[in-house]
Amino acid sequence: MCGIVAYLGEKEAQPLLLEGLRRLEYRGYDSSGMAVLNGGGLHVLKKVGRIQALAAAAEITPLHGSLGISHTRWATHGEPSDRNAHPHVDATGKLALVHNGVIENYASLKKRLITEGHTFTSDTDTEVLAHLIGDHFQKLPANTPSRLERAVMAALREVQGTYGIAVIHQDEPGVLVGARRGSPLVLGIGVGEHFLASDVSAVVAYTQKAVYLNDYDIVTIDRNGFRVSSLTKQSAGFEISAIDFHQADADKGEFPHYMLKEIFEQPQAIQNAIRGRLSHEDSTAVLGGLNMDAKELRGIDRILVTACGTALHAGIVGEHLIESIAQIPVETDFASEFRYRNCPIDRRTLVFVVSQSGETADTLGALREARRKGFRVLGICNNVGSTIARESDGGVYMHAGPEIGVAATKSFTSQVTIFALLALLFGRMRYLSASQGREIIENIEKLPTLIGQVLSQSERIKAIANKYAKSSSMLYFGRLYQYGVALEGALKMKEITYIHAEGYPAAELKHGIIALIDKNTPSVFICPQDSVHDKNMSTIQEIKARKGPIIALATEGDTSVEAIADDVIWLPKAVDYIMPVISSIPLQLLSYYTAVALNRDVDKPRNLAKSVTVE
Ligand code: GLU
Repeated sequence: MCGIVAYLGEKEAQPLLLEGLRRLEYRGYDSSGMAVLNGGGLHVLKKVGRIQALAAAAEITPLHGSLGISHTRWATHGEPSDRNAHPHVDATGKLALVHNGVIENYASLKKRLITEGHTFTSDTDTEVLAHLIGDHFQKLPANTPSRLERAVMAALREVQGTYGIAVIHQDEPGVLVGARRGSPLVLGIGVGEHFLASDVSAVVAYTQKAVYLNDYDIVTIDRNGFRVSSLTKQSAGFEISAIDFHQADADKGEFPHYMLKEIFEQPQAIQNAIRGRLSHEDSTAVLGGLNMDAKELRGIDRILVTACGTALHAGIVGEHLIESIAQIPVETDFASEFRYRNCPIDRRTLVFVVSQSGETADTLGALREARRKGFRVLGICNNVGSTIARESDGGVYMHAGPEIGVAATKSFTSQVTIFALLALLFGRMRYLSASQGREIIENIEKLPTLIGQVLSQSERIKAIANKYAKSSSMLYFGRLYQYGVALEGALKMKEITYIHAEGYPAAELKHGIIALIDKNTPSVFICPQDSVHDKNMSTIQEIKARKGPIIALATEGDTSVEAIADDVIWLPKAVDYIMPVISSIPLQLLSYYTAVALNRDVDKPRNLAKSVTVE
């Protein structure tokens, strides 16, 4: 959350900063701002609202200069407003700073600084950091080499919490300093110019070379180049990596919203998730990135999957896949709970952390806690070079391409597909024969085509969405493989339409939720032809008996469902273990078209932001 973009080069900074912020707007969009340095000093512009508001203000009063920092905010401390927007300046008004994260000891630092004469103008934790760095800067003699870098280092030693920051100072007009701990920060290396950004999508138009900074790194950029030092070590190492996608991948193309584009990208995303990972010869999955040999994999007798939001729902489907196919006990847990509870994990437990961005703060916290206890932790991420990918012992990349829409879509189906590959791999080491393995491979390989069939019903789904868009509450039901899909479908509906929605295992209806059923509360029922079809039919009858409308997801040709449901979305025939990848897609479209019908801001829903880098 929060997007940082900073520039030092030969061009005018303002247009580059604004374009970078637009690329990062998915990370936060309640206010934005920038500060630019030139011969005349430091100039700051901040505006509540979308980047458009900042761009409009910048048209009237442009900031000229070739060194600048900028920020798009997702507020943690202090309401969204002009004065709480970043950048924040220090007591002298000469230093400006943008920040992503939370300064946990800001209250005590603020108290101390106030007694020392500092005056604060915002409610943010961030402003304290600007004053603190400024204070250290003032205390260093004017001719101190690397004065700003030293001031940043000294201040960060006093700080608890998380940060990705970019700082400039009028008295060091050719220097840009960045630092990170817990929040992501990337250095983009161009020709005669450098960028700092929260992720590479802000810089990919200008360079394909990046350094993914590590926690405690400090990067100092000047007109001659850059150097990376560390708060904890003598000298920090760094690696220059090639950015693995191009600008066009992160554009909307002909689609009105990123979310719709990403929904329609799923045949390709799933193809990418399985490419080169299915061995017909050995009838198994090949996942070299796990960094585990056959003996080690065979030694695992329990799996723990920890994640947040959509990724956790993928894990819940994954639990069912691995338990059913490979017979290994799997537990799923909220990363935010796992990291603080004393969860017993024994030596033969393998921990999976799942995060599209690879930067989710709670999931990263869970990863670190599990590794601190000495466990092997594998990551399932989309962003190559992300913190989770770098700190895991191994893992599986999704290769889904950039996901910009705040509501996750293709990342969910990619994650579920990867769990199917893991189930196959573990299963083939235990109970599955080669022919059973082959059958699973054949079914997984059908996925891109089957997804295409579901997508072709988008007009039908749009009509259903329009019919129910005025509902104030919706319920989602599914059993076994479809339970995680029900949870995810309800989350999608809540996130982008603001309609209250809940997902449940279908049999839970009679244990309480049935009290909510009435003629105005639609139930979305995922009931493909599987081992629990009859049970689902009974539950549907119970809802109909109480006049609850039913939107059913049923297997093509299932006349029993068609006879009783108010509306039906057809699913192509498929085995139960790949069906979650298919059945989740109409639910994405249902939410999308409902949000459009309600005139919601689909790609930037209220209060949300993507890549949740704060706790
Ligand atoms: N804590 C800062 C603020 O509220 C930054 C928030 C963030 O990184 O999301 O302004």
